[in-house]
Amino acid sequence: MKVLVLNSGSSSVKYQMIDPKKEECLAKGVVERIGMAGAMLTHKPKDREQVRLTGEILDHKVAIEYVMSILLSKNHGVIKDKNEISAVGHRVVHGGEAFSNSVMITSEVIKEIANCIEYAPLHNPANLKGIRATQAILPNIPEVAVFDTAFHQSMPMHAFIYGLPYVVYKRHGIRRYGFHGTSHLYVSDRAAKILKKPKDKLKIITCHLGNGSSIAAIKNGKSLDTSMGFTPLEGLLMGTRSGDLDPAVVLHIMNKEEMTMHEMNTMLNKHSGIQGLSGLSSDMREIEEVLDSNVQALLSHQVFCYRLKKYIGAYCAAMNGADAIVFTGGIGENSSVVRRDTLNEMQFFGIELDSRKNNKRENGEKEIQGKNSKVKILIIPTNEELVIARDTMAIVNKLN
Ligand code: ADP
Repeated sequence: MKVLVLNSGSSSVKYQMIDPKKEECLAKGVVERIGMAGAMLTHKPKDREQVRLTGEILDHKVAIEYVMSILLSKNHGVIKDKNEISAVGHRVVHGGEAFSNSVMITSEVIKEIANCIEYAPLHNPANLKGIRATQAILPNIPEVAVFDTAFHQSMPMHAFIYGLPYVVYKRHGIRRYGFHGTSHLYVSDRAAKILKKPKDKLKIITCHLGNGSSIAAIKNGKSLDTSMGFTPLEGLLMGTRSGDLDPAVVLHIMNKEEMTMHEMNTMLNKHSGIQGLSGLSSDMREIEEVLDSNVQALLSHQVFCYRLKKYIGAYCAAMNGADAIVFTGGIGENSSVVRRDTLNEMQFFGIELDSRKNNKRENGEKEIQGKNSKVKILIIPTNEELVIARDTMAIVNKLN
């Protein structure tokens, strides 16, 4: 069985061809700059050279046609016929309250995804473009939608509701939804396997730290709380997003600077976070290079780690302890400095890092807690595509 996993963004389509039984990625790649000059496809088949193609790629349909032609090509392909693809799994960012699991895509499901556009105006329209293009190109192949929000639908109401008039929840669906669900699910499942314990007996804190960052409290295999909210703006400090903020600040700045809603939105999402505080970069590697010489870069690093530490403390409280803390995402997997400065002085919680293990550069999964640490500390590279392929296979197998 082969599953094509698609992650359609506004100007890009990322893809992986996965054999979910063997849990093997046969090829992966990305089409970038869709609809712009210099559009290109980068394709990497397993154990073979990466190739790059440029061309006029005006929309998502053309992008997915490019993907299909390279997947079928003699020199760089991994299939001989379209029908070798058993199913297509689509990443969909927002499923609102309608979806707490992955689903087979039907016309009703498409309507619901469209209904959620108001919650994710940048993402859901692009996800829908990918779905519609695939339906046109691979009309007889079943398609499954896997939602970023679905895993967090298990949050209890006291964790997801905001302290606003209840009517705004009822009328407009204003609540915490949470994101990065497939990543939190994947790494918490892997953590349970590494710890050799059933996941319904574990309390795990998962830190997904990338350009966008979120943390989740996962109790007995279910998401109990997470830091991203109604949108991916809330919570931790991020590359260019502010994270938590007094809502009155927004009103005050708009008033003082005579800013429009659009301008304010841009400031909060594109010019804040590590970028805004450091005045240098949103990229953690660039920040870490100058920690000793650039005061603002150091400040952004300190704010990032301090806020993460506070959330870890809060989630220990919410779950009455934690068995494991997991780090994933570009920063979580690679930045020993962030892990060190986040977890220092947390012995009260039974959290102690082994600095030698933390500093050792090696890829893959590893345990990095000290020998007296009551809480296991794990680095687990995430694999959202594999979760999408697994869910897609499970749903399609039920059909047969
Ligand atoms: P995305 O959210 O776009 O998927 P990633 O998970 O790839 O992002 O994470 C990107 C972040 O990871 C960037 O801030 C980058 O600087 C950081 N990062 C990647 N490698 C390292 C490293 N070796 N040390 C510190 N930060 C790193």
